[in-house]
Amino acid sequence: MVHPDTEIRLIDPKIGYGIFATKRIPEGTIVYVRDELEIQISEEEFENYNEIYKNLIRKYSYIDKNGYRILSWDLAKYVNHCCDPNTVITGYGFEIAIRDIEPGEEITDEYAFFNLDKEEEVFCEKKNCRKRIKPEDFETYYQEWDEKIKKTLPKIFIVEQPLFGYIDKNTKKELEEFRKDPSNYKSLYNLRYKKLIEY
Ligand SMILES: [Zn+2]
Repeated sequence: MVHPDTEIRLIDPKIGYGIFATKRIPEGTIVYVRDELEIQISEEEFENYNEIYKNLIRKYSYIDKNGYRILSWDLAKYVNHCCDPNTVITGYGFEIAIRDIEPGEEITDEYAFFNLDKEEEVFCEKKNCRKRIKPEDFETYYQEWDEKIKKTLPKIFIVEQPLFGYIDKNTKKELEEFRKDPSNYKSLYNLRYKKLIEY
């Protein structure tokens, strides 16, 4: 489930839709939670779909640490990749704003941590645009992002969190452990689907 202060807009025919902030979303705000209504597709189920469905699922889902493809039931599936994103997933499974997001700004994400099963072309038009994102980007970028997330994570306890109620009990406990002692930080690497490492 994506943060309530967002809306869908058509960007252009090439990129398709994107999600935009309707109000200011401060750094540290939880922007996406994998809630209980998300659709979970196992590897086996995925293999049984025909190519048309496979392409659809690939476009709108991400792969979790257990190899499940997670397809959001709400607008969250329209969040685009950007090589300089304003949100990022965390080792806790939810996404946070990694800097302040202004009203009207597109909500963007780093797809590297979604266990990509193949290369994808990206069009973010940033100076540092990687042009293609690859399965091995997870290994290349996770440490750099862990450092950024560690700096932002303490803010999650002080900003307004409309999605907090959707976080499961165990994750809340892990956050509490981090709050007490930041050395309990849970790395992004926890999200790595280990089977995909042999690409
Ligand atoms: Zn890019």
